[in-house]
Amino acid sequence: MHEVLKLARIAIATSGFISWLAAAQHLAIEHSVEPAELDWLLLEVTDLDRLSLKFGSYERKSHLHCEWSLATLQSKWHQRIFDRVPVQYLVGRTPWRKFELQVSPAVLIPRPETECLIDYVEQFLHTALATALNPAHGHWVDLGTGSGAIAIALADLMPHASIHAVDISADALTIAQANAERLGLGDRIQFYQGRWFEPLAHLKGSIAGMISNPPYIPSQEVLSLQPEVMSYEPHLALDGGEDGLECLRQLIQVAPEYLSPSALWMVEMMQGQMDTIVPLLDHAGYTDIQRLRDLEGVDRFALALAPKSLNHL
Ligand code: GLN
Repeated sequence: MHEVLKLARIAIATSGFISWLAAAQHLAIEHSVEPAELDWLLLEVTDLDRLSLKFGSYERKSHLHCEWSLATLQSKWHQRIFDRVPVQYLVGRTPWRKFELQVSPAVLIPRPETECLIDYVEQFLHTALATALNPAHGHWVDLGTGSGAIAIALADLMPHASIHAVDISADALTIAQANAERLGLGDRIQFYQGRWFEPLAHLKGSIAGMISNPPYIPSQEVLSLQPEVMSYEPHLALDGGEDGLECLRQLIQVAPEYLSPSALWMVEMMQGQMDTIVPLLDHAGYTDIQRLRDLEGVDRFALALAPKSLNHL
């Protein structure tokens, strides 16, 4: 499934490549870019494998094969070093869980911590499957889908569920849809342009699970993020308003109208936001609220069950 995203490869003379590589490694170190990023780039766009790159066994061959000419490789690496373009945007794709996803500056580059979110959904399903209502056969929504990562993982995890992916950005949806189609999940996911639940009026009261990685960084902090993020990633996907919590609050408030009673409500958030989010969920009548950590031990995801009735609203 990964090959389809890759372009045809052209031959590059090994001798030219060797001297370029030494200079490129040097540039990385000089400009505080992890040399591992260069390795990743080369493993993506050339026919080198990790071992031959590490031990130089490719040097015995006259040519190697690359999606780009040596001149393009050089100019892309300069964009990484001097313009601080994220390497995933240069290549136009990123691995995320078992998928290879197309990315562009129209979408946030899916993060490793968000991979954990799917593990928690999987765990939830294991416990929920024992109950009479099988949520894995219901409607699931990914709000603010971006590259489509979460929706794609949900479709893969639950072959009998209907997946609905929403984003306000038409450009993001184009990428999400292309990703779903390439991975053979195009007919499993419906895409909608709009704000959060707005395009999902027809699902009111019947959604089995809502997952979202909404923008949650306070507006001022977005401006001081590392240049790779601040200058290239869509602020629409990062900026959570003055205190970073605007979208999270809205998702807490609006979801009960759309979720079925005791449906799963789950979001990603920033370090330090959990102590605000949990009482808001509690106050809004959600039950079984859980604070879940990412692999670094940060309280990163909140899981809760939707209120059993809308009376308290
Ligand atoms: N985790 C992202 C970052 O660190 C932010 C994603 C988001 O705002 N949802 O840049």
